[in-house]
Amino acid sequence: MEQVTKNTITLKTGSRMPLIGLGTWQLTGDHAENIVANALDIGYRHIDTAENYGNEDAVGRAIKGGDRRSLFITSKAEPSHARLNDLLDACRRSLDRLRTDYLDLYLLHWPSKTVQEEETMEGMAILMEHRLIRSAGLSNFSVSGIRKILSVSDVPICNDQIEYHPLRNRDDIMAFCRDHSISVTAYSPLANGEVLKNERIRRVAAKYGKSPAQVSLRWLIQMGAAVIPKAGSVEHLKANFDLDDFELTHEDLEDIHDMGIERRLIDMNA
Ligand code: NAP
Repeated sequence: MEQVTKNTITLKTGSRMPLIGLGTWQLTGDHAENIVANALDIGYRHIDTAENYGNEDAVGRAIKGGDRRSLFITSKAEPSHARLNDLLDACRRSLDRLRTDYLDLYLLHWPSKTVQEEETMEGMAILMEHRLIRSAGLSNFSVSGIRKILSVSDVPICNDQIEYHPLRNRDDIMAFCRDHSISVTAYSPLANGEVLKNERIRRVAAKYGKSPAQVSLRWLIQMGAAVIPKAGSVEHLKANFDLDDFELTHEDLEDIHDMGIERRLIDMNA
């Protein structure tokens, strides 16, 4: 099993992924650079980006000159780069933009509809061998998609990054990943701001004197996931990193879980 401590999850490869990261989708240019720099000042050590966010260069400027080994940087390859040589090239370009020698975690952003899983995983194996990435993983993969990968490749799959928030339960994939020691990262953990309006979450939040955003992130962490909320202000950055001083009771975890809402924000088949 991957080991979960108060602040990190130890991946199959031995790397430790901080449970709270900064999501950077839709942050660009100087704003992205400033937000990442502020996040680092606050104490964030886990930054999530992707080649298609158009901000790797800005993230690279923000992390430059810091202690690289204290950071956990995730990036993602487009499915259009799932062929072996394309994956190697895409990763090298991400490393150049990020001004770093290696990624802590490299994910295939979505399943490829055209490239065989074996080929992409062979690319991941080469990237690991050359120490260009420390761990490999997936994003937007269902249980059957992960099963397929596990059946054709020995590359240790360390992570699945999926849409997960209190308005969308993911019990099936959480159970599967737990059984296969695959960590889960919850993307859009605030349902893009929708959790803030939810009455049940607001009620639970009032009990703890916390905000609905903080309760949603805490809920995900207690459900076993890492979280990567995006924040566009220092105020939100601070709030999302300030989750250590409370713990939801079993009843409150269940209360939120039992909302039974199936609010899906992102649908790759849409
Ligand atoms: P999100 O983190 O669920 O929500 C972001 C929204 O919540 C923004 O409007 C933000 O406003 C607001 N917010 C943040 N902190 C808040 C707080 N403490 N109080 C009130 N409002 C707050 O949405 P997301 O950007 O979709 O997802 C997060 C990250 O997941 C992305 O940035 C990306 O890294 C990753 N992601 C991955 C995939 C994938 O396919 N793998 C897909 C989507 C997202 P401000 O901007 O004003 O702070």
